[in-house]
Amino acid sequence: MPRPVVALAGGVGAARFLEGLVQVVPPEEITAIVNTGDDRDFFGLRVCPDLDIVTYTLAGIVNRETGWGFRDDSFHCIDALGRLRDDTWFALGDRDLATHIQRSARLREGATLSRVTAEIAEAFGVAVELLPMTEELAPTRVVRRDGSVADFEEYLVRDGAPADVREVDLSAAARAAPAPGLLEALEAAETLLICPSNPVVSIGTILAIPGVRARLEARRSAVAISPIIGGRPVKGPADRLLPSLGVEVSALGVAELYRTLASGIVIDRADAALAPEIEALGLAVRIEDTLMRDSKIAANLAAAALALAGTRA
Ligand code: GDP
Ligand code: CA
Repeated sequence: MPRPVVALAGGVGAARFLEGLVQVVPPEEITAIVNTGDDRDFFGLRVCPDLDIVTYTLAGIVNRETGWGFRDDSFHCIDALGRLRDDTWFALGDRDLATHIQRSARLREGATLSRVTAEIAEAFGVAVELLPMTEELAPTRVVRRDGSVADFEEYLVRDGAPADVREVDLSAAARAAPAPGLLEALEAAETLLICPSNPVVSIGTILAIPGVRARLEARRSAVAISPIIGGRPVKGPADRLLPSLGVEVSALGVAELYRTLASGIVIDRADAALAPEIEALGLAVRIEDTLMRDSKIAANLAAAALALAGTRA
């Protein structure tokens, strides 16, 4: 059964927002469509960073300092592995590894990623429906000015997110089939939200899945929350990736990117001066505290986004 509130989600920014959303909407009424463009195999294990961040956050066990991984995890396994091989740059905690082992085992048994994601969410007591954008591996690739090409996590974590990005290649997502039920969820939703996630490598990948952008543009009713505050991302490399699309790193730039699919955007108080220019694009604007320092701020932000959508009492 399609759920009334559907949110497009990346990792940390989305997870924090969803933590607020579940305080103002019953989690059983929410579907999060989650970016899987960062997924890849490490040592034969399928790791899905954004699905895991959202799951762990909604389960209340995420490491609050980093925004990813288990709180109080240890790293004995990856440390030991580092003696055996030299590509252990992606920090996978001991408890976190259990998730990747289980996911990989189930995928090898023939279960789909959607199925495994639902099983893991249930085991963690997460009632929000988490839908991967596609069942297929659809890696985002970052092309640097020197012509080198890296998977997203290689670019971000291994290489430290350098600024010399020539192009973000979403062609794998553009060839991937949407997960079963995804397009139907977008059509049936009463409320469509775009979480404060990286517009290029988190939301952009979901929009690249065939049929997604068209569904959103047909409705043009989504409400977005800007991940850019005061001309800077709260976290992550959005400031190094938006310029590759010729988009300004500001709430106005985000509004320009989303103008054909959104009816409104929530921006931060720090960006209040941009409101007239954003409204001139045809978007309704709400000005709020959008830096989610705690879950109460996140709940207020979620309530503001719903009010802007105007679909719920
Ligand atoms: P990740 O990079 O995969 O963890 O995931 P996201 O794309 O969801 O997160 C990165 C984006 O979230 C960045 O562009 C951040 O600016 C944004 N973000 C993170 N925390 C917050 C917050 O508290 N408020 C807002 N408005 N944006 C945030
Ligand atoms: Ca991510």
